[in-house]
Amino acid sequence: MMWRWQHWMVVLLVTVAAVSGNNYEGLAGHQIWSLESELAVELVDQLQAQGLLDVVAHTERTRTVRVTPEFASLVQKELHGAGHNYSVKVEDLAKHLQEKEKDEKTRQIHRAESCTATSCPFPLTYSYMTFQQMEWYLKELAKNPWVEVRSIGRSILDRDIWMVHIKSGECKGRKELYPNRCRRRASSKPMAVWLEGGIHAREWISPAVTLQLIHQITKDCCVTQDLDVYVVPMANPDGYVYSWTTDRFWRKNRRSNSGSTCDGVDLNRNWDYHFGVGASDEPCSQVYKGTKAFSEPETQALRDAMLQVASKGNLKLMIAFHSYGQVLMYPWGWTADKAPDQQDMVRLGKSFVMKAKSNYGTHYRVINAANDFYFASGSTDDWSKGVLKTKYVYTLELRDEGGHGFDLPATKILPNSMEVLAGLKAVFRKIISKKRTTNTVVL
Ligand SMILES: [Zn+2]
Repeated sequence: MMWRWQHWMVVLLVTVAAVSGNNYEGLAGHQIWSLESELAVELVDQLQAQGLLDVVAHTERTRTVRVTPEFASLVQKELHGAGHNYSVKVEDLAKHLQEKEKDEKTRQIHRAESCTATSCPFPLTYSYMTFQQMEWYLKELAKNPWVEVRSIGRSILDRDIWMVHIKSGECKGRKELYPNRCRRRASSKPMAVWLEGGIHAREWISPAVTLQLIHQITKDCCVTQDLDVYVVPMANPDGYVYSWTTDRFWRKNRRSNSGSTCDGVDLNRNWDYHFGVGASDEPCSQVYKGTKAFSEPETQALRDAMLQVASKGNLKLMIAFHSYGQVLMYPWGWTADKAPDQQDMVRLGKSFVMKAKSNYGTHYRVINAANDFYFASGSTDDWSKGVLKTKYVYTLELRDEGGHGFDLPATKILPNSMEVLAGLKAVFRKIISKKRTTNTVVL
């Protein structure tokens, strides 16, 4: 088969450019197909590697794919030729998304929650936020004296990459929020954790959950008494904006690649730790790693801020939030070999899973990135483990297990956030109590 990614992307980009006036028109004529046979999985994954379709949701045995009008007949021929059937779930993706948006807008709860042009005091729970709304909320958040909101750099299209620091310490000045006070006194040497959201544009649930976590953790000074919590809720603002305006399933940043008609670098393949394994050097690929490690301003900004936090010597945990799959992955991604602290990472991961299940019964699995998922390098997690030597490192694939995939209904924001918060609090508690135990032994 001779078709390659760039052919697919050229056609897609021309389609996008040729129409205007509606956010989803770049997706006009695109269809969503569902393949329920386990036998079709291998062929579908091959077709994706060739750029003929895009897997937008999956389970171990099924695939849900987006097919462009240009390649629909070719893909159909390939599938039928191999004896695989499929069902068309969405006839026209642009129309489907427009209808869905209309439905959501008519809901009372959506209207009641909407941010106005001048105010967005809380992260939204029943609709996804635009990047502008996120910035409004972060500005509000910065009014809390125990929170610092700082731009750690700018994207390739000059948007800010915001980092939120929820400061450790006693509950002074905020006791009114938690009158029952914390059980212990604050430690003199708090630990630090780093949470990253939104590095992949189309995974909208990631920044949505990350913002909810910020909102909840900021209110609870007992959680952060011994912890400095650093959060970047939107690591890829350009890609995110593009996924709102033009292509709902955009993944990469918005780099214009010289010598190619295809835009974007996969920011989660651009980090400098065994750069290049399981990543593509083809600019039209969804997992294009870039011309060199840290070629992108977004990864440079994240790297520099993480180095600064880690230089204080107490960074214990890093979690990158992605979707979808409901798995908590520990490194390595670049090799099937064991990473340092594997047993400890698995054990701590299991306490997350247990607590995350208690709210709604949602099941997350603790798995190894390379052995149980796929080989990938140049990601935040491997770099954090390999270069910063962070003890506990994870990539958390949020809801769901593939039914909706990237296009998770906004009604899931709140339950997904609450279960992750429960799991995270258990993880924080364990890290802090481990430190206390360790100190006792050392002393
Ligand atoms: Zn992702």
